[in-house]
Amino acid sequence: MKLPIYMDNHATTPVDPRVLETMLPYFRDEFGNAASKSHPFGWHAEEAVEAARAQVAKLIGASAKEMVWTSGATESNNLAIKGAAQFLKGKGRHLVTAATEHKAVLDSMHALERDGWQVTVVGVGQDGRVDPAAVKAALRPDTVLVSVMHANNETGVVNPVEEIGAITRAAGVVFHCDAVQSAGKIPFDVEQANVDLASLSAHKMYGPKGVGALYVRRKPRVRLVTQMDGGGHERGFRSGTLNVPGIVGFGAACELALAERDTEAARVLALRQRLQRGLEAGLDLLTINGSLAHRLPGNLNVSFAYVEGEAMMMAIKDVAVSSGSACTSASLEPSYVLRAMGVGDDLAHSSIRFGLGRFTTEEEVDYVVRLVIAKVMKLRDMSPLYEMAREGIDLSRVEWVNPH
Ligand SMILES: *Cc1c(COP(=O)(O)O)cnc(C)c1O
Repeated sequence: MKLPIYMDNHATTPVDPRVLETMLPYFRDEFGNAASKSHPFGWHAEEAVEAARAQVAKLIGASAKEMVWTSGATESNNLAIKGAAQFLKGKGRHLVTAATEHKAVLDSMHALERDGWQVTVVGVGQDGRVDPAAVKAALRPDTVLVSVMHANNETGVVNPVEEIGAITRAAGVVFHCDAVQSAGKIPFDVEQANVDLASLSAHKMYGPKGVGALYVRRKPRVRLVTQMDGGGHERGFRSGTLNVPGIVGFGAACELALAERDTEAARVLALRQRLQRGLEAGLDLLTINGSLAHRLPGNLNVSFAYVEGEAMMMAIKDVAVSSGSACTSASLEPSYVLRAMGVGDDLAHSSIRFGLGRFTTEEEVDYVVRLVIAKVMKLRDMSPLYEMAREGIDLSRVEWVNPH
C-alpha cells in the first residue's frame, strides 16, 4: 500500500489507465481539428468525436444528437441555466433551485437574479434530500426552469429526480439536472427522470479534466441562448475548437463506467460500509450527515464531535479527504450544504468527507479506520469540552464567563 491515500473522489478522480490509452493517439498522429472538413486529419478527429458522443449519450439514455461538448460541468451548468432562462425570458422570469446545489448552479442563478430574474431556493430535509412537494409548491405561472442535482458532491445524497421530473413535465417547466456525481456510479436516465438538460463532467468519472457535456433534449425541443459566440460549433450551442483527446477520453470513461457500474457500485458500497462500521466500532459521538439509504456508494460524510475538521485533516495528512469546515474559499463559514440540512455549526465544522472510488482498496480502508480512530481519540483527549460532555454536562446549558 502506498501513501498518501486518495479518498477525495468527489473532488476529482484519477484518469483510468485504459482511458489514457485511448487518448494518446489523439495527441500524436491524430491531431486534426474536428471542424476541418477538407482532409483526413479533420475527418479522423470528427469520427472520434462522434463515436465519443454516442458513448456519452448511451450512459444517460440520450441520443448522440442531444449531447453538446463543453469544458466541464461548470460551463454546462452556466450554459443550461443562463441559456434556457434567457431564451424563455418572454415567457416568465422565475427560477427554482435547491439550497444544496453546486456553486456553479447557485452562482448562475444569482447572476440571473442581478439581471432581473426571481429565484426561489427550496430547502432540504435533515436527510439532505429535496422534497418534490416543495418543488411543486415553489412553481408559479411564470416559472420557466427548475434546477435540482441528482447526487450531492458533499454528502452523496441522491435526490428523487424522477418525481421532480414528473412535476416539471406536467407543469411545462424546463428541468435541468446536475448529474456530475451520479453519472457512471448509479443509474441516471434522462427519459426516466424527464430531464431536459443534464450536466456531466469527465474528471469526476475517471476521465480527463477540462471536458464535460450538456445534454439538451430534442423532443420536446429545448432551446438555449448560446453563451459562447464564435464559429458556431456544436450546432451553434457552443463555439470553440473541440478538445479531441479529452472528448475521446470522456467517451471511453463513459463506456467503462456503464460496463462496470453495477459491480463497482457493489464493491465500493462494501468498502464504505467497512469504513463506517470500523469507525463506529472504535469511536463514540459520530454522526453520519445525510441519508444513508439514498446515497452514492462511495460517500461517507461524518462529523466527529469535539474534533475540528481542519485539525483532523492535519492529523491524517497521509489521507486525502475534504472537510465541511471552512472549505469554501478563505471564509470561516462551515459548509452551506450541511447547514441547509440543519447541521449545527459545531458539527459542520467537525465533518469529514470520505470519497471512495474505483481504485480504493480494502487495505486502504483498514489503514484509514485505524488512523482516524487513533487521531480522533488523541484530539478529543486534548478537548476540555469532550471531557465535560463525557461527564454528562449539557454544554448547551453552560453559561460561559468572559474573563475580560
Ligand atoms: C465538480 C462538480 C461540478 C463542476 O464540474 P467541473 O467539470 O469541475 O467544472 C459541478 N457540479 C458538481 C455536483 C460537481 O461535483
